[in-house]
Amino acid sequence: MAKTPIQNDIETSVELTHPERIYWPEDQISKQDLLDYYALVWRRMAPFVVNRPLALLRCPDGIDGPRFFQKHAWKGINPHIEEIADPEDKDTAKFLKIRDFDGLAALVQSAALEIHPWGTTTDHWEKPDMIIMDLDPGEDVAWGKVVIAAKEIRERFSILGLNSFVKTSGGKGLHVVASVKPQATWPHIKDAAEAIAHAMSADSPEAYLSVASKAKRTGHIFLDYLRNGRGNTAVAPYSTRARKGAAVSMPVGWEELDGKIGPASVTVGNAASRLGQSSGDPWEDFFKAASPLKI
Ligand code: ATP
Ligand code: MN
Ligand code: MN
Repeated sequence: MAKTPIQNDIETSVELTHPERIYWPEDQISKQDLLDYYALVWRRMAPFVVNRPLALLRCPDGIDGPRFFQKHAWKGINPHIEEIADPEDKDTAKFLKIRDFDGLAALVQSAALEIHPWGTTTDHWEKPDMIIMDLDPGEDVAWGKVVIAAKEIRERFSILGLNSFVKTSGGKGLHVVASVKPQATWPHIKDAAEAIAHAMSADSPEAYLSVASKAKRTGHIFLDYLRNGRGNTAVAPYSTRARKGAAVSMPVGWEELDGKIGPASVTVGNAASRLGQSSGDPWEDFFKAASPLKI
């Protein structure tokens, strides 16, 4: 089949049906626009989505229509979205993964408007290569407090010998992601995240919560360590969000947090200008920066 070049020398043999279909009505972003965005970020995004079990938020009629959070295959699934059995549980339905840009194009064709990988690859399912701390600010939390929390988490990861990276969620918060050598298993990874969350909320109970209590959330930041259990997911770096504004979860440099970056300030619409002008990829060394989690 003919390869269709898009941009950045990225091409795909996956044909979009109805490329003009609008997925984000208020922002007038179409299926083709989404594919073009992913071609732009593909080289940076690939290591975070290739060969990882994926959960997908599919919205066939765009963000205002019905939505389905799917971890398993459906009838008529595009063959570039592959199925893979969980090595620990061969009886449950197989998980989904992609191998390359054709896979990502197939996700666009399938109206997967959010991509949520596991924090591991299928080469080493039981040994995650990242620890994710999801900062969920309640009502009435100033953005500066979220930035302070992210930097404190970075500091606490560094005491464990781990380098961490930060991205916008594309929603309300930030995600601080520590890079770990895939050696420790899921329970150790989750324990490390939980210990940091509990220590921070014990030290600063007026600022942080480490239990998921909607009632107490106002004025506090919930340090959501629960993304780190086996089978849990978090939105991928560069994934779009199925929300108004078409924000994306964008890797940023730590120094950028002192500037104008907000949780949803990078969008499908302005990502090209950001990538064009910025001083490189702030997450370029993510995997090179990995250290073992000492247990
Ligand atoms: P925000 O900044 O708004 O908190 P977020 O990505 O951190 O953005 P959510 O969109 O609320 O937070 O999602 C929380 C997590 O729960 C996500 O990381 C996702 O992987 C997972 N999740 C989302 N929807 C579902 C669902 N329907 N079923 C199971 N898990 C889900
Ligand atoms: Mn969150
Ligand atoms: Mn959360």
